[in-house]
Amino acid sequence: MLSERALSTQVGRLMGLPFAPTDRDGIAGAIAEFKRVLRSGCKSDAHLVAVVDHIMDSSPRIPPPAEVLAACAEVRPTDSGGLPAPCERCRDNHSGGNWIDYGLDSDGNERGWGRCSCARGQALRALDRQHANDR
Ligand SMILES: [Zn+2]
Repeated sequence: MLSERALSTQVGRLMGLPFAPTDRDGIAGAIAEFKRVLRSGCKSDAHLVAVVDHIMDSSPRIPPPAEVLAACAEVRPTDSGGLPAPCERCRDNHSGGNWIDYGLDSDGNERGWGRCSCARGQALRALDRQHANDR
Protein backbone atom coordinates (compact mmCIF):
# COMPACT_ATOMS: atom_id res chain seq x y z
CA MET A 1 0.00 0.00 0.00
CA LEU A 2 1.19 3.49 -0.81
CA SER A 3 1.00 6.19 1.79
CA GLU A 4 -1.09 9.18 0.76
CA ARG A 5 1.77 11.47 1.71
CA ALA A 6 4.34 9.73 -0.49
CA LEU A 7 1.82 9.68 -3.32
CA SER A 8 1.16 13.44 -3.05
CA THR A 9 4.88 14.23 -2.93
CA GLN A 10 5.71 12.11 -5.97
CA VAL A 11 2.71 13.29 -8.00
CA GLY A 12 3.86 16.83 -7.16
CA ARG A 13 7.21 16.05 -8.78
CA LEU A 14 5.48 14.81 -11.95
CA MET A 15 3.32 17.96 -12.04
CA GLY A 16 6.50 20.02 -12.01
CA LEU A 17 7.54 18.69 -15.41
CA PRO A 18 7.14 20.91 -18.49
CA PHE A 19 3.74 21.05 -20.24
CA ALA A 20 1.73 20.25 -17.13
CA PRO A 21 -1.81 21.63 -17.32
CA THR A 22 -2.15 25.14 -15.93
CA ASP A 23 -5.90 25.46 -15.48
CA ARG A 24 -7.47 24.33 -12.27
CA ASP A 25 -9.56 21.50 -13.78
CA GLY A 26 -6.66 20.24 -15.85
CA ILE A 27 -4.39 20.13 -12.81
CA ALA A 28 -6.97 18.34 -10.66
CA GLY A 29 -7.61 15.85 -13.46
CA ALA A 30 -3.93 15.11 -14.02
CA ILE A 31 -3.30 14.65 -10.30
CA ALA A 32 -6.24 12.24 -10.03
CA GLU A 33 -5.03 10.21 -13.03
CA PHE A 34 -1.46 10.02 -11.76
CA LYS A 35 -2.63 8.88 -8.35
CA ARG A 36 -4.84 6.25 -9.94
CA VAL A 37 -2.15 4.71 -12.15
CA LEU A 38 0.55 4.94 -9.47
CA ARG A 39 -1.73 3.24 -6.94
CA SER A 40 -2.38 0.41 -9.36
CA GLY A 41 1.21 0.10 -10.58
CA CYS A 42 3.39 0.64 -7.51
CA LYS A 43 4.03 -2.00 -4.90
CA SER A 44 5.36 0.24 -2.16
CA ASP A 45 6.46 3.78 -1.36
CA ALA A 46 10.02 2.82 -2.29
CA HIS A 47 8.87 1.48 -5.64
CA LEU A 48 6.83 4.65 -6.17
CA VAL A 49 9.89 6.84 -5.61
CA ALA A 50 11.97 4.67 -7.96
CA VAL A 51 9.29 4.91 -10.67
CA VAL A 52 9.06 8.70 -10.40
CA ASP A 53 12.88 8.98 -10.31
CA HIS A 54 12.95 7.02 -13.54
CA ILE A 55 10.35 9.30 -15.16
CA MET A 56 12.13 12.45 -13.98
CA ASP A 57 15.37 11.13 -15.46
CA SER A 58 13.91 10.06 -18.77
CA SER A 59 10.90 12.21 -19.63
CA PRO A 60 11.37 15.74 -20.96
CA ARG A 61 7.71 16.59 -20.32
CA ILE A 62 4.77 15.57 -18.19
CA PRO A 63 4.00 11.95 -19.16
CA PRO A 64 0.57 10.58 -20.12
CA PRO A 65 -0.83 8.11 -17.56
CA ALA A 66 -0.05 5.18 -19.89
CA GLU A 67 3.63 6.09 -19.74
CA VAL A 68 3.54 6.23 -15.96
CA LEU A 69 1.98 2.79 -15.87
CA ALA A 70 4.64 1.49 -18.26
CA ALA A 71 7.33 2.90 -15.96
CA CYS A 72 5.76 1.06 -13.01
CA ALA A 73 6.23 -2.22 -14.88
CA GLU A 74 9.69 -1.33 -16.09
CA VAL A 75 11.15 -0.20 -12.79
CA ARG A 76 11.49 -3.15 -10.49
CA PRO A 77 10.43 -2.71 -6.88
CA THR A 78 13.66 -2.14 -5.00
CA ASP A 79 12.45 -3.67 -1.77
CA SER A 80 11.73 -7.09 -3.27
CA GLY A 81 14.86 -7.12 -5.46
CA GLY A 82 17.00 -5.23 -2.99
CA LEU A 83 20.13 -6.08 -4.94
CA PRO A 84 23.51 -4.62 -4.08
CA ALA A 85 25.00 -2.33 -6.72
CA PRO A 86 27.07 -4.05 -9.40
CA CYS A 87 30.85 -4.09 -9.00
CA GLU A 88 33.24 -2.78 -11.63
CA ARG A 89 33.49 -6.18 -13.24
CA CYS A 90 29.79 -6.76 -13.86
CA ARG A 91 28.66 -3.16 -14.32
CA ASP A 92 30.03 -2.54 -17.80
CA ASN A 93 28.93 -5.61 -19.68
CA HIS A 94 25.67 -4.52 -21.30
CA SER A 95 23.53 -6.57 -18.96
CA GLY A 96 22.89 -3.93 -16.34
CA GLY A 97 25.15 -5.73 -13.90
CA ASN A 98 23.21 -8.97 -13.99
CA TRP A 99 25.55 -11.21 -15.94
CA ILE A 100 29.24 -11.42 -16.66
CA ASP A 101 31.06 -13.06 -19.51
CA TYR A 102 33.34 -15.73 -18.08
CA GLY A 103 35.52 -15.47 -21.16
CA LEU A 104 37.61 -18.37 -22.39
CA ASP A 105 38.99 -21.28 -20.39
CA SER A 106 42.58 -22.45 -20.68
CA ASP A 107 41.68 -24.54 -23.76
CA GLY A 108 40.18 -21.51 -25.50
CA ASN A 109 36.58 -22.66 -25.10
CA GLU A 110 33.81 -20.18 -24.31
CA ARG A 111 32.86 -20.51 -20.71
CA GLY A 112 29.63 -18.65 -21.31
CA TRP A 113 27.83 -16.23 -19.09
CA GLY A 114 27.18 -16.41 -15.41
CA ARG A 115 26.84 -14.55 -12.20
CA CYS A 116 29.60 -12.41 -10.81
CA SER A 117 31.39 -13.22 -7.56
CA CYS A 118 30.56 -9.85 -5.97
CA ALA A 119 27.70 -9.26 -3.53
CA ARG A 120 25.29 -8.54 -6.37
CA GLY A 121 26.25 -11.67 -8.26
CA GLN A 122 25.76 -13.74 -5.13
CA ALA A 123 22.36 -12.19 -4.48
CA LEU A 124 21.38 -12.96 -8.08
CA ARG A 125 22.59 -16.51 -7.67
CA ALA A 126 20.44 -16.87 -4.58
CA LEU A 127 17.48 -15.58 -6.60
CA ASP A 128 18.26 -18.06 -9.38
CA ARG A 129 18.10 -20.87 -6.83
CA GLN A 130 14.83 -19.51 -5.45
CA HIS A 131 13.31 -19.41 -8.92
CA ALA A 132 14.53 -22.92 -9.65
CA ASN A 133 12.78 -24.09 -6.48
CA ASP A 134 9.56 -22.32 -7.47
CA ARG A 135 9.26 -24.40 -10.57
ZN1 LIG B 1 30.15 -8.02 -9.82
